[in-house]
Amino acid sequence: MNAIPSVKLIDGKATAARVLADVRTHVARLRESGLQPGLAVVLVGTDAASQVYVRNKVLRAGEVGIRSLEQRLPSDASQAQLLELIEQLNRDPDVHGILVQLPLPAHIDEHQVVQAIDPLKDVDGFHSHNVGGLAQGRSVLTPCTPSGCMRLLRDACGELRGKHAVVVGRSNIVGKPMAALLLQADCTVTVVHSRSRDLQALCRQADIVVAAVGKPRLIDADWLKPGAVVIDVGINRIEEDGRSRLVGDVDFAAALPRVSAITPVPGGVGPMTIAYLMKNTLLALDLQRQAAQQERTPCLSPC
Ligand code: NDP
Repeated sequence: MNAIPSVKLIDGKATAARVLADVRTHVARLRESGLQPGLAVVLVGTDAASQVYVRNKVLRAGEVGIRSLEQRLPSDASQAQLLELIEQLNRDPDVHGILVQLPLPAHIDEHQVVQAIDPLKDVDGFHSHNVGGLAQGRSVLTPCTPSGCMRLLRDACGELRGKHAVVVGRSNIVGKPMAALLLQADCTVTVVHSRSRDLQALCRQADIVVAAVGKPRLIDADWLKPGAVVIDVGINRIEEDGRSRLVGDVDFAAALPRVSAITPVPGGVGPMTIAYLMKNTLLALDLQRQAAQQERTPCLSPC
């Protein structure tokens, strides 16, 4: 009789703690050499969820020794005011990462704001320079959630080469960069979305399913191939049995006996996102140092 693969819970909290410990060590080394990484977090308005996210990011930065600079603008701040603030942060040599908390108030053009951030300080990886670089397989700042998912997948699967990954969802912040990172890791990638036909049959072919939809328990056990590895990015608040709780896009309880590994919600992808924001701040600093070095190095060939 074939052995049933043992079910593994992918513990995002524990992995994020390891990532943050590495960041802390790296930051301590930089500080010994007189350099402290700095992260600016910009919040426009008073959206309750955004305030919580910003507070958590600032807190986590402090824990790993990254200097954080919280910049708040009122809800009625103009586009010009926000662009001026970003320009100041771009010029500030003590700021290595800039994050503008999204969503922005409706009167502000989000795309223009993201494009105003120096691509080497764009720790969210949303600037076209970084989006394009990721698509071309260059070493750039990549979005935090998909980067965190890749770490979880590498830990859970080991070698990713040749595996068939199905990404459910095609947003700019999760689905598309996730697909690009999987492709870079030599997976065969299928991206499905709300207009895809026969979603279940496509998911059932997958060795890896990454769900980033925002629909509670959309993906049922019989959508999954036995032994598949499942990364559930979805965070959905539902009312159940008279209480409010968070669930993912995958029916976790039903999927658990069928899969070889799965992330829980909460405690799976969520903690990785913030850990990778800290990691990206270090990467940004490194990229800025490399760029400064290149500027200082005289061109020796006839150019
Ligand atoms: P978006 O709403 O931007 O994108 C959702 C995607 O799902 C779209 O591409 C949409 O397709 C697709 N979709 C919607 N309904 C279906 C369906 N029935 N079948 C197949 N595809 C469908 O969401 P995000 O990508 O921003 O976020 C997705 C989820 O991940 C949310 O729950 C969000 O809260 C969570 N999230 C979690 C993070 C974390 O740190 N853990 C970070 C970021 C997001 P179409 O393009 O055709 O409309």
